[in-house]
Amino acid sequence: MDFEITEHNFKSFLMSLKGMGIESYVVNKEDTMTLSILQRTVKGCRRCNLAATRQNVVFGEGSNKAKVMFIGEAPGEDEDIQGRPFVGRAGRLLDQLIERIDLRREDVYICNILKCRPPNNRDPEESEITSCKNYLFSQISLIKPRIICTLGRHAYNTLMNADERITKVRGSLKDYRGMTLLPTYHPSFLLRNQEKIKEAWEDMERLKELLKG
Ligand code: URA
Repeated sequence: MDFEITEHNFKSFLMSLKGMGIESYVVNKEDTMTLSILQRTVKGCRRCNLAATRQNVVFGEGSNKAKVMFIGEAPGEDEDIQGRPFVGRAGRLLDQLIERIDLRREDVYICNILKCRPPNNRDPEESEITSCKNYLFSQISLIKPRIICTLGRHAYNTLMNADERITKVRGSLKDYRGMTLLPTYHPSFLLRNQEKIKEAWEDMERLKELLKG
């Protein structure tokens, strides 16, 4: 299903064009900005150095009508090879988190702050986030989920324009442009710190309740 440019998403559409180096845009009544058009554009992106080392752009996947959007950090090795988000070990744990809210992967939308893999899975650099984040903002505007669940500190801090520790903010509810934002731990962190899984399950309980409301 495709989405029209509306008053609500037009600003972020323009911002994403700017991010792609396009400075002006003439609106046609028939014009529609869709996820698939955006995906094609991002596939050719060379705005940062990650373009030189990536195997595939990992745009994101799931339902265009998702009520819940999960946002991670950046593709890892498996994701870079397959061109799909969260398909490795962390992805299997994310699938379990999604099951906790009685949904399947296909029902939600999953993407990352960065669309390309940082070498050796290092943390995203500030300049890479700056180059890439307008793509994410456009995805959010086009999908318009009810709830955004950020995974780990990078996704939270990028959307909230903050510099918080995930241990401080996880499980709290925030407003993000009229949508509810629920930060939780990143699945890779949970794999290394299994004693925190209980808190992530609690966050999913909260998410499930929010979906009912
Ligand atoms: N970690 C992420 O943040 N995103 C992925 O897609 C995979 C692992």
